[in-house]
Amino acid sequence: MKISNSMRALNGSNIMVSSMAWGMWRFAGQSLAGAHELVETALETGIKFFDTADIYGLDGPRFGAAEELLGAVFSQKPELRDQIVLASKGGIMPPVPYDSSSRYLEKAIDDSLRRLRTDRIDLWQVHRPDILTHPADLAATLDKAVASGKVRAVGVSNFTPVQIDALRIYLNAPLASTQPEFSPFHLKPIEDGQLDQAMQHQLTVMAWSPLGGGRISSPDSERGNAAVEALRQVADAQGVSIAAAAYSWIMAHPARPIPIIGSQNVERIRDAGTAYQVTWTREDWYKVLVARRGESLP
Ligand code: NAP
Repeated sequence: MKISNSMRALNGSNIMVSSMAWGMWRFAGQSLAGAHELVETALETGIKFFDTADIYGLDGPRFGAAEELLGAVFSQKPELRDQIVLASKGGIMPPVPYDSSSRYLEKAIDDSLRRLRTDRIDLWQVHRPDILTHPADLAATLDKAVASGKVRAVGVSNFTPVQIDALRIYLNAPLASTQPEFSPFHLKPIEDGQLDQAMQHQLTVMAWSPLGGGRISSPDSERGNAAVEALRQVADAQGVSIAAAAYSWIMAHPARPIPIIGSQNVERIRDAGTAYQVTWTREDWYKVLVARRGESLP
């Protein structure tokens, strides 16, 4: 299986995104010069899809800090904004913890636009499902956001397949994307039908923590170790890093998940571009899956 690096449209839109995204969960706290370097490195690597959230920065220095820093980068170099498909998220507000009421989300989107110093967010995602909001009400809020032009497309993150179905029933705008955790260290979207559902409805899949949030360098379980070893076999044979093997393993799934590269290190971001060199045989791909499962398939 060859990995395609071609751009593709976000579901239901003409917004063209790259096969990898770059994430800003760990972005806040950088200097402005460092932030510029990271953004430009991602772009030079062919990554034109950026994922942030209003809450990124909460663990230091503050809620909104990652969006503010990207806004400062845009302010210094406005031409960068048009080179990026910008995704953000909202709906988590500690200690509540989740709020998808229209009043809260409308303000959250306005606040994100202000911090990002932009007039539109290309993909706006509900960060986590709010159990206390009816999907019909959430759909109405999302449709209104699209109609206002403040967001161009809408998606969800950490929703179950049933929660996605419930929202889709009420939403007039196409649901563009889903963002589950997915990697050789977290297989749930394969097991719970989420990737099958994405293929059924052509949802764009964004895979968060594609290296298990760094567990690739320090696995915390025997199954994690086994997955790294299975990735290493392929990486060594094809002359790429284990991280590149992991990104390509994710992209080899037929739902064409887009790994969100989380590294804030220039060399490692560049290295992600080598993931397209990897060719997976069916046997090697399944070996990684089975290693992580810790038991063979039936
Ligand atoms: P990740 O790529 O799984 O982990 C990145 C972390 O691993 C960085 O701290 C990185 O350190 C470290 N790392 C260790 N070894 C590495 C190696 N060999 N190569 C590259 N990095 C290595 O991704 P993540 O940061 O956890 O998540 C990625 C993105 O997913 C986030 O930025 C965010 O956009 C999104 N996300 C979404 C949710 C959600 O609920 N929707 C949750 C979490 C994350 P260095 O920086 O030093 O390279």
